[in-house]
Amino acid sequence: MTQSFIPTVRTLMGPGPSDVNPRILNAMAKPTIGHLDPEFIRLMDEIKGMLQYAFQTKNQLTIPVSAPGSAGMETCFVNLVEPGDKVIVLQNGVFGGRQADNVRRFGGEAIVVEQEWGRAIDPAALEATLKEHGDAKIVSFVHAETSTGAQSDAKTICEIAARHGCLTIVDCVTSLGGSEVALDAWGADAAYSGTQKCLSCAPGLSPVSFNDRAVEAIKNRKTQVASWFLDLNLVMGYWGEGQTRAYHHTAPVNALYGLHEALVILEEEGLEQSWQRHIDNHNALKAGLEALGLTFIVPESERLVQLNAVSIPEGVDEAAVRKQLLTQYNLEIGAGLGSLAGKVWRIGLMGYASNPKNVLLCVNALESVLSQYNAHINKGVATAAIAAAYQ
Ligand SMILES: *Cc1c(COP(=O)(O)O)cnc(C)c1O
Repeated sequence: MTQSFIPTVRTLMGPGPSDVNPRILNAMAKPTIGHLDPEFIRLMDEIKGMLQYAFQTKNQLTIPVSAPGSAGMETCFVNLVEPGDKVIVLQNGVFGGRQADNVRRFGGEAIVVEQEWGRAIDPAALEATLKEHGDAKIVSFVHAETSTGAQSDAKTICEIAARHGCLTIVDCVTSLGGSEVALDAWGADAAYSGTQKCLSCAPGLSPVSFNDRAVEAIKNRKTQVASWFLDLNLVMGYWGEGQTRAYHHTAPVNALYGLHEALVILEEEGLEQSWQRHIDNHNALKAGLEALGLTFIVPESERLVQLNAVSIPEGVDEAAVRKQLLTQYNLEIGAGLGSLAGKVWRIGLMGYASNPKNVLLCVNALESVLSQYNAHINKGVATAAIAAAYQ
């Protein structure tokens, strides 16, 4: 007979999913209620309010899509892109490439502005592209490129796009909760995120937010939205205001208990405090990794604090090291993605996983495993460097 599945307890320090706060796991184990139960409607309203806080927005249309971050991405593109629309995609990693793919699948024309991987997006490249493509309707980009560990200046990019009359779609999957996201201050029109990165929640939900300009654009479409499930005109009948909610799909009730608890935890800590915690632990991890002799691939001022991409020491089998970290220390770190495959490790310090214990575990475990592989690293100095960084 097949036995119950009991996973080993791991420490998740990759690009996601990140460690889930036990309070959230407990919340998800509570009894399921009906998805039109008045109690559930209250839960939905509280989630919407807390998501507005997390995104720093007053946008009415701020809801979790019932599927992972990739579905939030599709929600933005399928609702805003109409056949023939020109969309400027600023790509500096894997996830920007997916945005361009979305544009094409929904009949749009993707003008891809290729940027160097491991660098922030250069706003001047957007200015130049908009001069050439004055008829563009949308500008899209990834705020926190998880594939490279680079963070871009969302405010400047959104301002340039708005000045040229373009709507903006911003990928905030890895930034939400971990570093400053401020949709209203940025003037961002549409954004999507995920629950499994810095919100410390289980994978499977995608918070999205649309401002009035974006909602107008969706309402004034000439063509029907190509996806039934993600059509916001229909989804709003369920997630909209008041008690008269119509059945659209059965919400993932227990997953939403989890998101509610994640957002309660974020409110308790405070957004600014959460961002600062991610900075502090990043600085300690950086001190430890650099003491070992590892180097970051992203210039310091463009680095993401929640996703650290470092080069692999010469002659080291990177996959074997990751495998040993997992089997010997129950520690998961990430491999390189796309053109960085085999070239970097991606070490996440996201949400609940961003804490001093994990910083110490990761650096010490790497030191131990790399020593076993006779890699050229500096031994016996990393722990002191971490301690100094926390002082
Ligand atoms: C993880 C991630 C996604 C996709 O989210 P899923 O939950 O895996 O679907 C999209 N964009 C970025 C930047 C990500 O890090």
